[in-house]
Amino acid sequence: MMKDHIKVHGLAFRPYLSQEQIAERVGEIGQQISRDYEGKSPLFLAVLNGAFMFAADLIRACAIDCSITFIRLSSYEGLNSSGKLKTVIGLQKEDVKGQDVIIIEDIVDTGHTMSEFLPQLAEMEPASVAIASLLVKTEALECDIDIQYTGFEIPMKFVIGYGLDYDGRGRNIPDIYQLAD
Ligand code: 5GP
Repeated sequence: MMKDHIKVHGLAFRPYLSQEQIAERVGEIGQQISRDYEGKSPLFLAVLNGAFMFAADLIRACAIDCSITFIRLSSYEGLNSSGKLKTVIGLQKEDVKGQDVIIIEDIVDTGHTMSEFLPQLAEMEPASVAIASLLVKTEALECDIDIQYTGFEIPMKFVIGYGLDYDGRGRNIPDIYQLAD
């Protein structure tokens, strides 16, 4: 059961997506990836910190041979995306070269993080690249990026839970909550 509202660091959030809704959609994406990558062995790149929970559920929903590694790209603090990407930590060219890569993101907001990371990834010569993002703020997108697997398109409102934080808190909440007006 979701609470009718929660407070994190003094801010009020209201229920948005329940753990049941999330689990159902993650299962569907897992099946879709399993079909699309049949006979292949993709490498999942889970973007820390936010995507750890989605990644754990998504790879269990994928019934194919695969591997996973975790990377860090984030430069996000507070409620607004700064659009500044720091260095990519945890990835070597030899991990990626010739691999069918599926990036696992928690949320794509402006798209700057992904559009800055994709060229860096391309230099590592993967065989193919796809993006799976649990949430996409479609109206906030400022970059032309292809997202092959979208969990939910959501409005331009700050969300927490299921791995997503507000200043470090709220990642453990099993459901997703949206900032109250
Ligand atoms: P972008 O570069 O696409 O604008 O931002 C991507 C990153 O911003 C995400 O990986 C995430 O860390 C952060 N972000 C964007 N919107 C939200 C949000 O509503 N909630 C939280 N917790 N993080 C967000």
